[in-house]
Amino acid sequence: MDIKKTKLYYEQINSSDICDCAYCKNYVREIKSTYPKLAKYLGSLGVDIEKPFETMPLELDEKTGRIEYISAQYIVYGGTDDFSKKVIGCVNVDIAETHPPTQINEAHFVIEIYPISLKWVV
Ligand SMILES: [Zn+2]
Repeated sequence: MDIKKTKLYYEQINSSDICDCAYCKNYVREIKSTYPKLAKYLGSLGVDIEKPFETMPLELDEKTGRIEYISAQYIVYGGTDDFSKKVIGCVNVDIAETHPPTQINEAHFVIEIYPISLKWVV
């Protein structure tokens, strides 16, 4: 893993670069305050939890006012050799086996965190 490069990458992403659909907006607003330990762990890898590469939402549960995300994906620079799967609280952090094209030419991989349950605030 190249934590330095990963950090730089996330610093360069603006909020306007992030998908502005309601599901992603809701995710960005709630993720850090709902999962502070997870945010801290991803931060130690250089990843900004509020800048997901992709989120995979399920349907909004009208009764509970919550929404589940099957997973959210994040780009990490470098190789996977020193990455190890982790469970933070009830959330898995693992390498994503499938993901959309990243358009990055340097060595990188995609991790995913799952499952995620958030309040619907959008
Ligand atoms: Zn979106």
